[in-house]
Amino acid sequence: MSSRTPLIAGNWKMHKTGFQAVEAASQLKRLVEDAADVQVMLAPAFSALFQVAQALKGSNVAVGAQNLHWEKQGAFTGEVSSEMLVEAGCTHVIIGHSERRLFFGETDASVNRKIQAALSAGLIPVFCIGETEAQREAGETFSVLDKQVRDGLKDFVFDDLSGIVVAYEPVWAIGTGKTASREQAQEAHQFIRSLLDTLFGKPFASAVRILYGGSVKPDNVRALMEMPDVDGALVGGASLDPETFSKLVFFNN
Ligand code: PEP
Repeated sequence: MSSRTPLIAGNWKMHKTGFQAVEAASQLKRLVEDAADVQVMLAPAFSALFQVAQALKGSNVAVGAQNLHWEKQGAFTGEVSSEMLVEAGCTHVIIGHSERRLFFGETDASVNRKIQAALSAGLIPVFCIGETEAQREAGETFSVLDKQVRDGLKDFVFDDLSGIVVAYEPVWAIGTGKTASREQAQEAHQFIRSLLDTLFGKPFASAVRILYGGSVKPDNVRALMEMPDVDGALVGGASLDPETFSKLVFFNN
């Protein structure tokens, strides 16, 4: 178990209308109101952000977006800026999720600009990285992670990055029911932390939270969280049902 305060984050992807999201968020708020020594974050769709943030006001559940544009404003049809997210009530934003990389052409360079935009607006970026199944089978896991971290965090210095959260999400484990073993997760997290140490120094590397994501469920969360470099979870499918998600928040019980 790490000494960093764990973060359990739910990514609702393109699920739940505004009304459905408020209902689920309100239920979660009640279920986790007694959670101690753990942070909770929910990332609904853009259209539900404001309503969910209102419903969660004063609770211990933070609100995050699933993406943002790096520009402050302009002719970028369909995009949403950091300032818009802050006004809607977000404190966090997921950046570089593998579905954005796979389906929407997100690159390490765009991820880098988005992290910059988020930090400038005071949002906490949840910076996602992870290898595909083919890359793992080809023995490229560490080189893929190395490139994603170096390019995603290019030109930043230690001070800029304070508060950033990294999420290791092996693509082969997302939405597939295949979870990385806790040893595989720990090995990747340790690699990422030591790379962050090389790039930004020990104080940063030992404070940064590295979440694991990929088919996290109530029956595997505890084993994962027991690993020394696993500081929380980024959860897709199991975050949709408030009862199930609350079991992840109470992973220690
Ligand atoms: C995710 O999309 O970030 C994710 C981890 O999804 P799931 O928990 O469904 O594998």
